Amino acid sequence: MEPVYMNPAFLEKVSQCPLCGEQRSTPAYAVSEQAGVRLCPCGVHYCDHRLTPEGLAAYWKDYQVNEHSADAEECALRQRMYQVDFEYIARFLKKRAQILDVGCADGLFLDVFAARGHLCHGVEFGHSAAQAAAQKHRVWEGHFPDMDIPPGYDLIIFRGVLQYLHKPRHFFQKAVSLLRPDGLVFITAQPNMDSFCHKLYQNRFRLGLTPCDCVGFSPKPLVNEFGRLGCRLAGEAFFYEETPYARPAEDIAAVHAALESKRAGGEIASLSPPFWGNMMTLVFQKQ
Ligand SMILES: [Zn+2]
Repeated sequence: MEPVYMNPAFLEKVSQCPLCGEQRSTPAYAVSEQAGVRLCPCGVHYCDHRLTPEGLAAYWKDYQVNEHSADAEECALRQRMYQVDFEYIARFLKKRAQILDVGCADGLFLDVFAARGHLCHGVEFGHSAAQAAAQKHRVWEGHFPDMDIPPGYDLIIFRGVLQYLHKPRHFFQKAVSLLRPDGLVFITAQPNMDSFCHKLYQNRFRLGLTPCDCVGFSPKPLVNEFGRLGCRLAGEAFFYEETPYARPAEDIAAVHAALESKRAGGEIASLSPPFWGNMMTLVFQKQ
């Protein structure tokens, strides 16, 4: 079945940067016949088409069943990534920290924190995922910026979700408003558009932009954005070799083949492999 985000009936044009609102941008590369990626002067890449509200509802309705938990092997690998992510952020956390996971899916990442005695809440847009998470944690279902959530969190998590946000600034403002002083925002499992692989592979970057994954970040625009909100960068990591996805020899060979193909004036046929710098993890602390 054709994905929802390729159906023109579910797409709308994007004429300004989703992060900063700037209308000037430069074309970067095409992703389909009607959609292309643009680069804003702020450093954000974005798709010039995105899902309409109806398209978003159609996509997220069954995302949990169709994609997020579809493949048992992928789920097992993701569980191991949860441990990598947890071990990184754990060094910043006090005991019994109060945690909010925005885009918590079925709550499996929160489970890791709950098992270590932290107090876990979630926010989820997809109905079936929200229901699954609510079996284990307190969960708010809906659009995070509009929610009436009591403040006072020690940690707010955005794990692999920023690429879907039409108005990321509203999410960031909301998150910072819910943090206690010295509280943390943890951004992880986030594609890094400043990576060597994104620059080389462009529309063949495995975690690339589409009308669904419509906005692409790198550290710089996020550091600027959270700086405006009174937060400093407290941690930065780019996991690769410690992940269950890394096969360094094979991955280097694949990137070498892609470089050779591009040098010879050809197209890169395969999707990018896991590689150094592809994924970023950032921690911001409210001052
Ligand atoms: Zn921008």
